Amino acid sequence: MSAPKPHSWIMDLAAYVPGRAKVEGVKETVKLSANECTSGPSPKAVAAYTAAASQLLRYPDGGSTELREAIAGVYGLDASRIICGAGSDDILTVLIHAFAGPGDEVIFSQYGFMVYPIQTKAVGATGVAVPNLKWAADVDGILKAVTAKTKLVFVDNPNNPTGAYLPMSEIERLHAGLPEHVVLVVDSAYAECVTAEDYDAGAKLVERSTNVIMTRTFSKMYALAGLRVGWGYGGPAIIDALNRIRMPFNVNLPAQVAAVEAVKDQAHLAESVAYNAEWRDKLTAELVALGLDVVPSQTNFLLLGFPEESPFTAGEANTYLSERGYLLRWLPGMGLPNHLRLTIGAPHENRTVVELLRAFLNGSPE
Ligand code: PMP
Repeated sequence: MSAPKPHSWIMDLAAYVPGRAKVEGVKETVKLSANECTSGPSPKAVAAYTAAASQLLRYPDGGSTELREAIAGVYGLDASRIICGAGSDDILTVLIHAFAGPGDEVIFSQYGFMVYPIQTKAVGATGVAVPNLKWAADVDGILKAVTAKTKLVFVDNPNNPTGAYLPMSEIERLHAGLPEHVVLVVDSAYAECVTAEDYDAGAKLVERSTNVIMTRTFSKMYALAGLRVGWGYGGPAIIDALNRIRMPFNVNLPAQVAAVEAVKDQAHLAESVAYNAEWRDKLTAELVALGLDVVPSQTNFLLLGFPEESPFTAGEANTYLSERGYLLRWLPGMGLPNHLRLTIGAPHENRTVVELLRAFLNGSPE
């Protein structure tokens, strides 16, 4: 008997391994590996989620109408150009399925979000990974990589896992250099974290063009990663294509009502953003003082490099920290074997992680 055979092109993919939440033999862990937002969600969102329990026998609104209208109201957008999904992963995935197939090329950065190369493989298209420039996307490098086969260009801005960002002028320059049939995806998952003044998440560019989509999420600064809600804002032809192939009820009912309350609670969001920015600065300064290479970040995480001359490696630090219950993201699978990604946590977690790294780097474990 022979086993069923999936597409040959997916067989060199390994199943995605998310940031760990547990370590064998360690009772209590602190998870700083998945860029979640420790400040937590709006209490109004949690109340709406709980109240939705009485309606679980119903299908949700397949068009996420109220949520799209709430997002449009808060961000000053056109609700008809918004699409919601089960996390922005859902939107990114459906985009690739709608626009690329065998023989097509999809461009992204070498150190960029993993979903782009995975889903590109899933549809049998060819991924083209362009080396980063100063840890962000390299606009000239991407433009040089464009061919007649290019269907999509992904830029995560700010970038995961590096935390670096491109100013809007660079995104505009990238867009201006792309042929009109290429879809430019500006993945702005970390937009709410950004404090740099020359940054823009991309909505105005979407409104001025036909081939751009901006993607956003409730998983980061809105602190609703467990609910899986994301959204996209794109040109009408792009949104139309996505609506044709997305799952009919892709955002579940409790997720829709909770996200509506979350987006309306901008006061709560502002507190989380301020907390994040404050600790981002503090942690950067303290970790640089320990001798680590910290990439300047506009996100809710920091990429920590272990200098070449250091006798210690990121892999050893990762083991040391995880044995003490502190789970960061070690990135050898991304081609960054001497880096760790640290999500900003609660104050005591941030302080402890600095102290643990200090002890580790001094070679004097407590
Ligand atoms: N884009 C980027 C750049 C991300 O880092 C992530 C989450 N790690 C996502 C998209 C997907 O987030 P979600 O599916 O939770 O919306």
